[in-house]
Amino acid sequence: MTPILRLLLATVLMAAPPAAMAQMELPPIPPSVEDSYSKLTARSEVAEALAAIKGAGVRMFEEQVRINEVPAPPFKEQLRAEYFLKKMREAGLPGAYIDKEGNVIGVRAGTAKGPRLVVSAHLDTVFPEGTDVKVREKDGRYYAPGIGDDALGLTNLLTVLEALNKSNIKTVGDIIFVGTVGEEELGDLRGVKALFRDIKDIDGFISLDGVGLGRIVHHATGSHRYLATFKGPGGHSFSAFGLPSAIHAMGRAVAKIGDLVPPAEPKTTFTVGTVAGGTSVNAIAATSTIGIDIRSNGNAALLEFEKKVLAALQDAVNEENARWKSDKISVEIKQVGDRPAGVTPIDTPIIQAARAAMPRVGAQVRSITASSTDSNLPMSLGIPAITLSSSGTGGGSHSPGEWYSPVNNHVGAQNVFLLTLALTGMEGVTAPPARQASSPIKDTGNHGHPA
Ligand SMILES: [Zn+2]
Repeated sequence: MTPILRLLLATVLMAAPPAAMAQMELPPIPPSVEDSYSKLTARSEVAEALAAIKGAGVRMFEEQVRINEVPAPPFKEQLRAEYFLKKMREAGLPGAYIDKEGNVIGVRAGTAKGPRLVVSAHLDTVFPEGTDVKVREKDGRYYAPGIGDDALGLTNLLTVLEALNKSNIKTVGDIIFVGTVGEEELGDLRGVKALFRDIKDIDGFISLDGVGLGRIVHHATGSHRYLATFKGPGGHSFSAFGLPSAIHAMGRAVAKIGDLVPPAEPKTTFTVGTVAGGTSVNAIAATSTIGIDIRSNGNAALLEFEKKVLAALQDAVNEENARWKSDKISVEIKQVGDRPAGVTPIDTPIIQAARAAMPRVGAQVRSITASSTDSNLPMSLGIPAITLSSSGTGGGSHSPGEWYSPVNNHVGAQNVFLLTLALTGMEGVTAPPARQASSPIKDTGNHGHPA
């Protein structure tokens, strides 16, 4: 570890809560990993491919602009998916296709029965239909909603694919290139859920998401969201007095949920974020609805705590009915969000390889951190997964003022190119890391694959 890296990691450690610090202890990178990279970079095909990517910076950015200007609102990614499919086919995967969920998938077959690695980026944006997605330059910054998140990741994916094909490099394992739908909030990871439901033998997963080379996401915060709607008979506040109230039942539920104590470790949180209901101050409320958000860094803790929240809703109904000797209050519970939690352990080959790749292209690991991305799903299934940010500078993600500047924009693509070779193995040069014992995918029950 270089002194600068040690310093940067120390900064990350100091900013992290004590429980997270233990996870941040970085094991040394095994010599075998460094050895693979030395063998790879010594090959002329690899050196030429890296040089070609370096020379493609301007072209990459032009492509990023074109991708961004094909709108991809939540649940309406089809236009961008069709454009991306065309680009994937042109880049060397004529058999690429769009699956039932809307994901664009292209498989670059390896030479042997090696590991199958997914390299992905997400097609969707958070911006609604009608948003102006035209890219505009001002003082060296290129402004457009979605330009960094994730038109940049999609561009890097195409760049890696093209470099592999132009150099005729053969990998031992398969590389499955995927443009996913439904990564952003309301999409609820529907694209990546479909991918892992339909393709059963994936050994590793890389998501290219957003700006900020040097960031490795290895931990997924899970979230479950609910709308709970209380229903009752309703009536006049004076003449119908004695009937149970949907709002009173809701109040009991909010108080009960508010008193729950979640575990500190893994970090688990909750809030009743919204309330709505009633029609008039002088009417016993017939309906009321609350929105509940539950999050955790651990799936078991998430499910355990969720049970208590759901039980509190039913207890509140029972109490309100008992208070008025009634059975007229009920609650309807609707799940509106399901992102599973998970972690890729820090000593997993995919993380060691990702850490070792960056210095080979002149970059540094800046943080190893938690976030909610497409990698949540494979992590929850025990499949090694990471989310990487790409190079360049940018800001304002998820806002209309989002911007990107293509400073050294080739470095991120070089990094993913090398990492992909290391993880799938280059025929005749390096062997890929052994396939994971957890593959093919374990059945984890319904969780993560909601019906
Ligand atoms: Zn994103």
